Amino acid sequence: MSTPRFDLTGRTALVTGAGSGIGQRLAVGLAEAGADVGCLDLERQRPGLAETIDRIGTAGRRAITLIADVTDADQVDAAIEAHESQLGPLRIAVNCAGINHSARAEEMTDADWQRMMSVNLTGVFYCCRAESRRMLHHGAGSIINIASMSATIANRGLWQVHYNTSKAGVKHLTTSLALEWALRGIRVNSISPGYIATPMISGPEWKTKTDRFADETPMGRLGTPDDLVGPTVFLASDAAAYCTGTDLLVDGGFTGW
Ligand code: NAP
Repeated sequence: MSTPRFDLTGRTALVTGAGSGIGQRLAVGLAEAGADVGCLDLERQRPGLAETIDRIGTAGRRAITLIADVTDADQVDAAIEAHESQLGPLRIAVNCAGINHSARAEEMTDADWQRMMSVNLTGVFYCCRAESRRMLHHGAGSIINIASMSATIANRGLWQVHYNTSKAGVKHLTTSLALEWALRGIRVNSISPGYIATPMISGPEWKTKTDRFADETPMGRLGTPDDLVGPTVFLASDAAAYCTGTDLLVDGGFTGW
C-alpha cells in the first residue's frame, strides 16, 4: 500500500535533545521518512549528536549540528536561524529536550523547581516561539512537543511534582498555541510517552523501578524510542492535516488502568 501522505521528502525538521534517547531516535526516524534534520542539543552532547548525524547520513538525508541551551532564548533563535540558512525553510519541529529529577516536595529546593520549569516548560515555549516566527512566515508548519504521561497522571512511587507540573504545562501550552495558530498554517500537537527505556531512566538507581514499571504497564514492557517514531512521523506529516491541539499518549496502555 502506498502512503504518500506520510512522506516527509523535501521538508526540513528540527529536533531538540537530538543527542540522546528519544530525540536521537526521532531525528533519525524523521530522516528515514524523508526529512533533512537540524539536530540540537547541549555542547556536552556533541558525541551523541555526531552519532545522530552519522545515522541520518546513512539514511541518505542531510543533517546539521546545532548547539544550544533551550533555556537561553538568544541561543534558540540563533540555532533556528542557522537551521534555515543551512537546510532551508523550517517545516517540522520536535521539541524533545528535557530533564528529570526526583525530590520530595517538602524538601525540594528553589533551584530544583526553577531548573525543571526552565528546561522542560520555558525551554519548550522559547522553541515554539522561535519556530513559529519562521513557520508563520512560510505559512506552514507542524510542531510536536514531547510531554509525558506524567502530564496526565502522577507516577506511583516517584517524587517529582516539579516534573509532572512542567509536563502538564507543556500539554496545555500545546493546546493554547494550537488554537492561536490554527488559522495561520501551524499545527501544534504533543506526544505523551509512558516509560521509555533511555538514559533518562537507565541509571542503577532505576533498575528496580523500571522492572516495576514494566509489570504495571498493560503491554508488559517498557517502551523504546522506536515506539515513538510512527506517532511522530504521523503528526509531522500531511496524514495529520486535521490534527491540532491533540495529545497523543504512547504508553503501552499505562494510563488506562
Ligand atoms: P535523555 O536521553 O536524557 O535526552 C534528553 C536530551 O535533552 C539530552 O541530550 C539532554 O542533554 C538534552 N537537554 C537537557 N537539557 C537541555 C537544555 N537545557 N538544552 C538543550 N538540550 C537539553 O532523555 P529522554 O528519555 O530521551 O527524554 C526526552 C524527552 O522525553 C524529555 O522531554 C522527557 O521528559 C520526555 N519523556 C521521557 C520519558 C522516558 O521514560 N524516558 C517518558 C516521558 C517523557 P543532557 O543529558 O546532557 O542533560
